[in-house]
Amino acid sequence: MTDDSVRSGGCLCGAVRFEIAVPGAKFSICHCGMCRKWSAGPFMTVHCSGEATFENQEGLAWYPGSEWAERGFCSRCGSSLFYRLTMQPDPDLIVSVEAFDDADDMILERHIYVDAQPQRYQFGDSRPRVTEAEFLKELGITPLEES
Ligand SMILES: [Zn+2]
Ligand SMILES: [Zn+2]
Repeated sequence: MTDDSVRSGGCLCGAVRFEIAVPGAKFSICHCGMCRKWSAGPFMTVHCSGEATFENQEGLAWYPGSEWAERGFCSRCGSSLFYRLTMQPDPDLIVSVEAFDDADDMILERHIYVDAQPQRYQFGDSRPRVTEAEFLKELGITPLEES
């Protein structure tokens, strides 16, 4: 059984406030160009269980960043908050570590899209590093081939 704990979080201005079940307390860092552009740095995320419960979602907006995923953000303060796959019927919500009120106990699990990481920054940890192709294979996506 997974030990899901419900955690609260929100954007910078409070126009988005939510609670969501977090299995474990682990996060990943995505180095892909879209995440870096969107979040102004490597995007650190927690894979959560199911959907969030919203206390306030006045500011929540979604940007369809690709054919298979969309990105949720606060349209008032600009905070990058969520990522979810749109090709699945009930996708799990992937949440920015920084959106949580308390994430001090969260542990880095791995880096993804490391082949898209620029040379200008480096992380000093020795956690696993996964390429774009390896990650998409896990998701069952083959982007350069149809069907
Ligand atoms: Zn906001
Ligand atoms: Zn990314």
